[in-house]
Amino acid sequence: MTVDPSTLADRVDGDEVVSLVQDLVRIESPYFEEDEIVDFVFEWFDDAGLDPERHPVVESAYTGYEGANVLAPVEGSDPDAPTLLLNAHVDTVELVDEWEEDPLSGRVADGKLYGQGACDMKAGLAAAMVATRELAAPDVDLAGDVLFTAVVDEEGPYGLGTDQLIRDGITDECDAAVVTEPGPVLAQSDVENPALLLGARGRFLYDIEVRGEAAHGSQPRKGTNAVAAAGVLADALAEMETADHPDLGSGSVCPLGIEGGGETLSVPEHCRLSVDRHVVPGETETVVREQAEAVVADLDLDAEVSIGFREGPEGARYGPYVTDRDHPLVGALADGARATTGRDPEFGYFASVGDFNYLGDRAGLPTVIVGPDGANIHGAGEYVDTDEVVEVTELLVDGLARYLQ
Ligand SMILES: [Zn+2]
Repeated sequence: MTVDPSTLADRVDGDEVVSLVQDLVRIESPYFEEDEIVDFVFEWFDDAGLDPERHPVVESAYTGYEGANVLAPVEGSDPDAPTLLLNAHVDTVELVDEWEEDPLSGRVADGKLYGQGACDMKAGLAAAMVATRELAAPDVDLAGDVLFTAVVDEEGPYGLGTDQLIRDGITDECDAAVVTEPGPVLAQSDVENPALLLGARGRFLYDIEVRGEAAHGSQPRKGTNAVAAAGVLADALAEMETADHPDLGSGSVCPLGIEGGGETLSVPEHCRLSVDRHVVPGETETVVREQAEAVVADLDLDAEVSIGFREGPEGARYGPYVTDRDHPLVGALADGARATTGRDPEFGYFASVGDFNYLGDRAGLPTVIVGPDGANIHGAGEYVDTDEVVEVTELLVDGLARYLQ
């Protein structure tokens, strides 16, 4: 390294980072409609003199989706040194109706930058983009590689952008991952930045079929009511015992919906019950299926129940993961936090699931989430703290230079 890594953070221009977040927020990009923001990110890297690439994302069986991720590689000098995957999603949820101002304004007031997706995660995307460019500067001679990936469809049902990275073997070339999702606001315990989130629970979605027997609605005893049985089952599943994990907490169960019936005067013969199941390590698909089957057996319902899971592209499963605190990436980012903020980082775990589960569990990469704080994620009035976007950018540049030097 020709440049002392501890000086790299000084090169981050805070105003530029914040104005990049504004540019990104002003491009509407709900999942499945990311073409414009993908072009923007591609051209930004092209203008910066890097060598970006559009990486096609295609899923024909369930969604008919066709789009592209943007990859921007930064090659190091030592083929034996690690390759770091830096991952951020470009999409947001659909614009929420309740905004009292333009949800795409990027307005900054009192240190807060407002907009749909400002915190989740255009701020993290901007931080990762600027950090990548700084690490690619001609006088920065890293030993390891950075692979920046701006991915599509994280907020959609299957995380297709990162799924495609895995299916195409791109993650096989990587040794560890950093995802710049919002940090503290989505941590499952109270932490403050600088915070490193070292894992996340996983998630299954039960798709349970309940079959009863139709009869005239005036004579309910002559039939078997599938909807009533599904209600009883939903209650029992919500009370089910789940496993505990020292870092990730407990599994959880949340019945989400019952679909079926609805005839004006018939005992419903069929319905589907969908149930969210967040899991901790050890709660595999087999375990979770058997748990539900045991609940069904105990209830001894008249209706017939078959336990299944939501269908989706092969492999698109959100498994839990925990990254070892002793991993060199964690140490480098912790040193980066101390160097750039003067504070020790706090450690936490993410409350829900996302692309980081694909990276941490499916791809088996030690994965750290570090991102700026904010509020009202996925809701009206979403904002990110501008100071934190700059702070996270500096932490990334410094910490990743240490990891890859
Ligand atoms: Zn997100």
